[in-house]
Amino acid sequence: MSAEKTPIAPASNFIRGIIDRDLAENKFATKNWAGSPGGAEHQATGQVDAAKIRTRFPPEPNGYLHIGHAKSIFLNFGLARDYSGICHLRFDDTNPEKEEQEYVDSISEMVQWLGFGWNNESENNLYYASDYFEFMYEAAEALIEHDNAYVDAQSADEMRINRGTLTEAGKDSPYRNRTIAENLQLFREMRDGKHADGSLVLRAKIDMASPNINMRDPAIYRIKRAHHHNTGDKWCIYPMYTFAHPIEDALEQITHSICTLEFEDQRPFYDWLLEKLADASLLARPLPHQYEFARLNLTYVVLSKRKLIQLVEDKHVSGWDDPRLPTLAGARRRGYTPEGFKLFTDRIGVSKADSWIEYTILEDCMREVLNEAAERRIAVLDPIKLVIDNYPKSQSEDCFAPNHPLKPELGKRTVQLSKELWIEREDFMEEPAKGYFRLFPDNLVRLRYGYVVKCTSCEKDPNGNVTVVHCEYLPDTKSGTPGSDAVKVKGNIHWVSAAHAYECEVRLYDRLFKEANPGSGDRDFLNDINPNSVQTITAQLELSLKDAKPAETFQFERHGYFVADRKDSIAGKPVFNRTVTLRDAWQK
Ligand code: ATP
Ligand code: MG
Repeated sequence: MSAEKTPIAPASNFIRGIIDRDLAENKFATKNWAGSPGGAEHQATGQVDAAKIRTRFPPEPNGYLHIGHAKSIFLNFGLARDYSGICHLRFDDTNPEKEEQEYVDSISEMVQWLGFGWNNESENNLYYASDYFEFMYEAAEALIEHDNAYVDAQSADEMRINRGTLTEAGKDSPYRNRTIAENLQLFREMRDGKHADGSLVLRAKIDMASPNINMRDPAIYRIKRAHHHNTGDKWCIYPMYTFAHPIEDALEQITHSICTLEFEDQRPFYDWLLEKLADASLLARPLPHQYEFARLNLTYVVLSKRKLIQLVEDKHVSGWDDPRLPTLAGARRRGYTPEGFKLFTDRIGVSKADSWIEYTILEDCMREVLNEAAERRIAVLDPIKLVIDNYPKSQSEDCFAPNHPLKPELGKRTVQLSKELWIEREDFMEEPAKGYFRLFPDNLVRLRYGYVVKCTSCEKDPNGNVTVVHCEYLPDTKSGTPGSDAVKVKGNIHWVSAAHAYECEVRLYDRLFKEANPGSGDRDFLNDINPNSVQTITAQLELSLKDAKPAETFQFERHGYFVADRKDSIAGKPVFNRTVTLRDAWQK
C-alpha cells in the first residue's frame, strides 16, 4: 500500500459551502416548525423554525453501526452543531420484518457514545419513520387523485422487461391509463387486504421514456403481509424506500438531506415527489434538498452489512462487539475513541468522489489522540526473569515513573523495584547483533526509572532457551538522584518487579483481513481473513494496572495503547486489549 502522508484536514467542504449560501440567501426565513413532524397544515400552526438548519441521521435498524456510519453521524450532527441547527435521529423502519429492538438500542447507544444526542432544549428529536405510515398513505392517495400514480397489475417480470434499458426507452404499462376512480378503488383494496402479495403495485406516473431509469414510473407501494415491529399487523401494504424517505425528510422539515452517492440518480424523483405533494398542499415549503457525498471505503475492512453478518453468524469473530470488527461497538471495545473518530472524519473530509481510505489513517488518528489522552504504564508482554545478584533479597524500594511525559501536571506514580524483575525476552541477547544496545554479557543498560545494571550471565533450559538473566546494579545511578547520569549507557529497558506484578491476560489484536481489499477480484472475502488477528498472552504488568476500570486506556511504554476490556474485566482483575501499536507495523 502507498505510504502517502495523511491529508491535512480541509477547512471546509462542499456541503458547508451549500449551507453558507442557503443561509446567506435567507432560504429558510419562512420555514415553520410546529415542534413535531407533520405536513403543511400541522407546520402552519408553528413558528418560524428557531433551528437554522435541520439535518438527520437515518439508520435502518437492521444492523449494527459501523465506521462508515460514524462519518455520516459526524457530518450530520456536526453540521447541526456548527450552524445552530438540529440533527434528528430517525429510525428508518419502513421495511417490515428485518428490524429489531436490539439494533435500535445499540444505534442509540453508539450515537451517544460519539458525543451526540437528540434531546434539544424543549424537544426530543428522535423519530420513527413508521409513525408516518398514515401520512404516506394519504400522500399516495393524493398522487392518485392528481393522476400522478396508478395501480399496475403487470408481473414483476413484465415490469422489468418494459422498463427498458439505459439505451432504450421503456414501454407504458397496459394499466397506465386506468381512471382515477379505478386507481383509488384498487389502492384501497390493496390496503384492505383484498389482493395477494405482489399481485399489484402502486407506481408513480412520470415518464417511461425518461433517460433516468428511476423516473420510469417507479413503484411506490407494494403489498406485503408482514408484521411490523411498531405498527404490528395494521398494514399489509408498505411504501418503497424511495417514496418514504423524501416524505420523512419533508415531514421533519429537514433542510439538508445528506446521503451517499448511490442515491444521486434518485434525486430527480425525490424532487418530483415533494413538488407534487407540496402542490397538493400536503407538504410545507421550502422543501428539503438532497445532497450526496462519497461513502467511506476503508482498506483492510468490510463494511457491508451482509458480510458483517456472515462474519458474526459463521463465528469468525466472537460477536458484534468483537474488537476486530469495524462495528462501532467493536471499535469501542478495541479502545478506539470518539475523539479519534472525530479527528479521522475531519482529516478524510467530505467529497463527491468515491475513494479508498487507508486503514493506517484511522490508526494514526487513534494514536494521535491516545498519545495525548492516555497515561503511561509499564507492561512486560513476553516476560523472562532478570535477577540483580547484588541486590538484597528481602529489600524493595520506590521508583518514580511519570504518568505522562507531555503533562507533568499529572505527576508521578511509585513502582517497586526488587531483586527479581520481569523484562522483555527481546531485551536480552546472549550474542548481540550489530547495533544492539540492550542486555548482553558485560553491557551496561539503564533500568528505566531505576538503576544502571551490568549484565553478567544467563541460565538456559535444556533446549537452549534463555530462562533467567543475571546482572549487578550500580548503587549510585538511580534515576532522579544527584550524579545518577555519570555513567553513560545506550540502552534503556522497562521492567516490572516480580514480587509486585499483576499477571494478566492481554489480547494482541491485529487487522482482521490480511488483504487491503478483502474479497476483491474473484476471491471469497473469507479467504482473506488474517489467521493471526488475535493472540492472547499472559503478561506481567505493573501492579497499579490491577485497579484499572473497564474502558480505561493506557499507553504501555514501548508497546502501544491498551484498554481494559469493557466486557471481560472484573473489579481488581482487568484484562487488556491492544488498541493499536505505537508504530505502524504494516507499512511496507
Ligand atoms: P443498507 O445497505 O442496509 O442500506 P447502510 O449502510 O446504508 O445499509 P443505513 O442504516 O441505511 O445503512 O445507513 C444510515 C446512514 O448511514 C445512511 O444515511 C447512509 O448514507 C450512511 N452510511 C452508511 N454507510 C456509510 C459509509 N460507508 N460511509 C458513509 N456513510 C454511510
Ligand atoms: Mg441504507
